[in-house]
Amino acid sequence: MSHEGIRIVSEEEARKGAAEEKLSPDAVAPAKVRVKKSEGTGVEIDWRDGHKSAWSFRWLRDACPCATCHEEREAAGRKPGEAKPKPQALLAMYAEPPKPVEVTPVGKYALKFKWNDGHEAGIYSWEYLRRVCDCDECRAVRT
Ligand SMILES: [Zn+2]
Ligand SMILES: [Zn+2]
Repeated sequence: MSHEGIRIVSEEEARKGAAEEKLSPDAVAPAKVRVKKSEGTGVEIDWRDGHKSAWSFRWLRDACPCATCHEEREAAGRKPGEAKPKPQALLAMYAEPPKPVEVTPVGKYALKFKWNDGHEAGIYSWEYLRRVCDCDECRAVRT
């Protein structure tokens, strides 16, 4: 008997898999999206299933779903939204807080941010945003 095709999944992957099966169409369909660009605060989404999500722009920048940022996070063991540790030398320097200079819808399924640091590769789909919902309830399920 061959063991081909059997994949050992880590506990974390198994959890992710379980979470991925759970989302209903209403859970990934926004009823209302508020991008507080002029206030510089963040994004709020009310979902069709009644759930509400809110993220700061800093959090969203650190959760950029593009391949480069994703790989960087994986390599460093950071979760989406988790800030990079700052190198000591930079502590004294003023770094402008992340905020978008441009927010554009991508079809009906995503938002694209052009950040003030010039990065704009991330496409934040509704599904991705719902999966990384930063409310207490969702955070508790993920950890
Ligand atoms: Zn990115
Ligand atoms: Zn939530």
